[in-house]
Amino acid sequence: MEFVVEQQPPTFVPVKLDAQAEVSEQAPRFPVHRIYCVGRNYSEHVKEMGGDPKQEPPVFFSKPASACVTFNQDVAYPQATNDLHHEVELVVALKSGGKNIDIESAMDCVYGYAVGIDFTRRDLQAIAKSKGRPWDLAKGFDQSAPISAILPASEVAQLSGRQISLKVNDEIRQQASLSEMIWSVPEIISELSKFFELKSGDIIYTGTPSGVAAVSRGDRLCASVDGVGVLEFRIA
Ligand code: MN
Repeated sequence: MEFVVEQQPPTFVPVKLDAQAEVSEQAPRFPVHRIYCVGRNYSEHVKEMGGDPKQEPPVFFSKPASACVTFNQDVAYPQATNDLHHEVELVVALKSGGKNIDIESAMDCVYGYAVGIDFTRRDLQAIAKSKGRPWDLAKGFDQSAPISAILPASEVAQLSGRQISLKVNDEIRQQASLSEMIWSVPEIISELSKFFELKSGDIIYTGTPSGVAAVSRGDRLCASVDGVGVLEFRIA
């Protein structure tokens, strides 16, 4: 088959088969199909953004698969913003999908987990919110989804109680327990599948705890979910 323009490379995330494995260029690869994201999934973050945590169903938005940044590569400070915010999140990677998946079988779709950053052009998001516009410009830009290697779910005994955290230049900015998530992983998968036919290769950023703030050129970020992964990179 002949393509009429240059084909962009596919997006993939390295997999580490156990928690101790080194991640190299030879690591197995998880091919990314789509990136879905959940907004407002930790009460303290909902409050810091001016919302009411109890009254709202999950907020979904998406990013292009090409927004992933892997192997701890630098992230270039993006164009069109003066207020780039970090949001550290647990990422769920799917091995299967479907429509209208029930909560009881949702975990059968999970391949594994990673830690990621949902970068947000907060100034553009504020404009979008005030004018009732879509969030694409605030969320779906190039390099807006750094992600660690994916650890298979079989290597993660349970998620609840694990700590998620983000340090910027060795200073803690965000820290919480995954138990604080308003919508659990199976609830998110079930709810999302009411709107989209989920597929293998889909990844889901599951929302951020409180403490979101701006980053600057030269900052060093270190995100982690205990027992799942570590993501470390610089803003170039
Ligand atoms: Mn987010």
